[in-house]
Amino acid sequence: MTSTIEPRLYRAAPGELAGRLIAITGAGSGIGRAVALACATHGAEVVLLGRTVAKLERVYDEIVAAGGAEPVIAPLDLEKATAKEFDAIAAGIGTRYGRLDGLLHNAGLLGDLSPIEHYDVPLWTRVMHVNVTAAFALTQVMLPLLRAAPDASVLFTSSGVGRRGRAYWGAYAVSKFAIEGLAQVLADELSGTTSVRVNAINPGGTRTAMRRAAYPAEMPEAVPPPELRRPARPGDLAGRLAPVRDGGRRHQLLDPSQGGVGDWSGQGEDPPGGLHQAASQYNLR
Ligand code: NAP
Repeated sequence: MTSTIEPRLYRAAPGELAGRLIAITGAGSGIGRAVALACATHGAEVVLLGRTVAKLERVYDEIVAAGGAEPVIAPLDLEKATAKEFDAIAAGIGTRYGRLDGLLHNAGLLGDLSPIEHYDVPLWTRVMHVNVTAAFALTQVMLPLLRAAPDASVLFTSSGVGRRGRAYWGAYAVSKFAIEGLAQVLADELSGTTSVRVNAINPGGTRTAMRRAAYPAEMPEAVPPPELRRPARPGDLAGRLAPVRDGGRRHQLLDPSQGGVGDWSGQGEDPPGGLHQAASQYNLR
């Protein structure tokens, strides 16, 4: 079956994620927090993964106060976690739920904006580890739980600089190219033999701590906050939609900031996005 997805037009119905268990890395702040709140609003039970427990607790409180299902807090420092800690997270979810319906790899490190010639090697290693290796390791331990779900979705977070290199974006850009590679390899492995969907998304420029660090001179209002949904503009779509193979089970880059699926030839910027709050736009249903 061939279908198309236009993430900017998609609007989740209330309760659309009811009964689904969704784990989100970096859920304590920025885009991850907004997606966690949106998933809970749409009925999902969420597993809040992150390194700063106080932030995760605040998100937990917000979800409960809004009437959402009680979340699970799973502290995990993706830079420092050992194999045992990755295993323990998966074992904990397995014991309690026996499955995982959605996994959003959102946590990320920007690193330095610096020429390759001068890029600090230890910092390069940290960025690659958090942005790529830890996402790989977490996916690996979660795969049995994702397979156990009837229709699970794994989503990696890319960026405009993950498709077209840009001077001075160093390890961050390279890590986003790698995450797209990981998504494609995994999608190819799982397609046809499992019901697990694998996708990558570029959320587009979003008002977060990372954006501030990357664009210190930018007016914050120039890009939307993670919670804001930009009104859909059908005119944006012209020529942007591409078919999603195998009914959406194969890899695609969802790039709402560029108006469609998988055909972005980005000019080096992350244009304003602001679509992150709708859980189903992240294809987690
Ligand atoms: P952010 O505000 O800097 O948030 C990053 C999140 O990652 C935080 O929750 C942070 O946890 C977590 N994190 C960092 N290092 C971690 C570690 N070692 N272990 C566990 N968690 C860790 O960034 P954001 O803007 O929300 O970005 C979210 C994702 O979107 C990233 O993958 C980013 O590359 C991507 N993206 C963002 C934009 C944008 O304009 N904002 C554009 C394109 C792509 P703490 O809160 O504990 O620090």
